[in-house]
Amino acid sequence: MPRQHVTTHIAIIAGVCICLLMYLSWSGSKELPATSAQPAAAAVLEFDSPGSALAVVNKHRPLPADYIPQDLADAAGVPLRAEAAAAYLQMAAEAGATGVPISAVSGFRTGGEQEHLYTSYTDSFGPEAADSISARPGYSEHQTGLAIDIANPDGTCGLESCFAETLAGSWAATNAQHYGFIIRYPAGAEHITGYAHEPWHLRYVGTEHARTMHEAGTTLEEFLGLPAAPGY
Ligand SMILES: [Zn+2]
Repeated sequence: MPRQHVTTHIAIIAGVCICLLMYLSWSGSKELPATSAQPAAAAVLEFDSPGSALAVVNKHRPLPADYIPQDLADAAGVPLRAEAAAAYLQMAAEAGATGVPISAVSGFRTGGEQEHLYTSYTDSFGPEAADSISARPGYSEHQTGLAIDIANPDGTCGLESCFAETLAGSWAATNAQHYGFIIRYPAGAEHITGYAHEPWHLRYVGTEHARTMHEAGTTLEEFLGLPAAPGY
């Protein structure tokens, strides 16, 4: 074979290899397509088991009263399930490194602790107002060990809707999905989630699903094709 042809063949083979490598590295890191946000995904995603990362607890879907996850770990002073705790610690560390300190206020709560909290709200505000800001015992997502309330360490807008405009609140709304958390009760979705906007209440679902929901702007109920749960 003439030398010129050999050189041409080598060049073509090298070119094909480079293209193949580029394709493989792209396809290995690409995000899930937005179509996975469609309700059809509900057929294969587990959300009934309290131990599932996608467990749905809302005003239609209570947990067993005595449910306690078996893998609770420490997440900066509050208990969370191990995977969620590790994700929270990484998120808080990376937020802190960019100048946004975040503190943990509340994580896992037992059914009994929720009963205590709910009763204090009904005593203070009456049952109707209490239902829009607090879950009845057995109906709190905090009992899954996958939900965490966060705050600014200085307490600015703690557990108030203005938290969304604070440093920690806006950082979480923009970045939490990369650590597997969603803003579980977003603004304008009370008719679906049953709760007023809670920019401080993060729910761990894993990075893949959190990113999909964030990009699609859907609630957990919509993502799974579940009916809205505005009330008990
Ligand atoms: Zn909460």
